[in-house]
Amino acid sequence: MKHNFGAGPCILPQEVFKEASQAIIDFNNSGLSILEISHRSKAFEAVIEEAELLVRELLSVPENYSVLFLQGGASQQFAMVPMNLLPHAGKAAYLDTGTWATKAIKEAQKLGTIQVVASSKEGNYTFIPKKYEVPSDAAYFHYTSNNTIYGTELFEAPSSVPPLVCDMSSDVLSRKINVADYGLIYAGAQKNMGPAGVTLVIVKNDILGKTGKDLPAIFDYRKHAEAGSLYNTPPVYAIYVSLLNLRWLRSKGGIEEIERENIIKARTLYEEIDRNPLFRGTANAEDRSRMNVTFVMDNSDLEKDFLVFAEERGLVGLKGHRSVGGFRASIYNALPITSINILVDTMQEFAEKHAK
Ligand SMILES: *Cc1c(COP(=O)(O)O)cnc(C)c1O
Repeated sequence: MKHNFGAGPCILPQEVFKEASQAIIDFNNSGLSILEISHRSKAFEAVIEEAELLVRELLSVPENYSVLFLQGGASQQFAMVPMNLLPHAGKAAYLDTGTWATKAIKEAQKLGTIQVVASSKEGNYTFIPKKYEVPSDAAYFHYTSNNTIYGTELFEAPSSVPPLVCDMSSDVLSRKINVADYGLIYAGAQKNMGPAGVTLVIVKNDILGKTGKDLPAIFDYRKHAEAGSLYNTPPVYAIYVSLLNLRWLRSKGGIEEIERENIIKARTLYEEIDRNPLFRGTANAEDRSRMNVTFVMDNSDLEKDFLVFAEERGLVGLKGHRSVGGFRASIYNALPITSINILVDTMQEFAEKHAK
């Protein structure tokens, strides 16, 4: 057994893997594999309906929002958001907090005027800009709640007159949010919700259909909402595995319980980073992410040795993204606290070994 600190696709609960593998052989004692059943069958209808219901229940999604299961990842949402919400010659506001935010901005720039209200690029995205103004005539204000690569997170929804649009790919379902604060939330599933291949979209119905554009149906949220995410063949298996993970989350106590655990997990690891003389956190302390913990060594020659040392103890996926270097421990919902404790022990052992 490995302790998987990979950033995504990433760990899911072991029980989910077991049940998911069983369904490939025989789905619910039907004599059929989940991979061969029709997406219009009663059996799959039950799956997608329960998945939607669980998202609604876990996040307390208000009635006037649609919950969609789409394809194309968060990257497709970078384009779909402006396609659906930005009128011709319209303007949208974006907050630039890292690589994914930048990609979202680049895509939106192809479809309208984009005002970047603030950016932490100058500081290599080690912090979240706090002082900025969102122009009230923007069609929407887009931000990234958790910066997977840089290890920063925005816990409070920013105040904004235009509808808020949020890329929550790497922290959705990890903490309580107030959906009513948002016009649209999207998240590629492969960090906290399920396997790669499905993308969650939660959209307030009345912000749609205001641009006067006639979009290709496959990129039109309204088409997907009208069809209950069955406009075309959805990613059946990815939705099924997400359902298993959503059931797991509910059975362990829902968002409140997972948030409590995530706070303890992150605190445990940051305390060691701050205490251990070999390591140093890279993100501004008040903006530290609870999902992706980025840290380096002052003596970078030792970084390779530590990765090997950790790997020998079954700790994998710790290598930092090339734009930050060092290490990144992704500690999503499914990563148990025992894995954090073993990482902390390993950091201590390594420091003792290298103490002068
Ligand atoms: C991983 C990630 C993405 C990219 O997701 P894809 O599903 O690969 O398109 C976008 N935004 C954030 C915050 C991410 O963590």
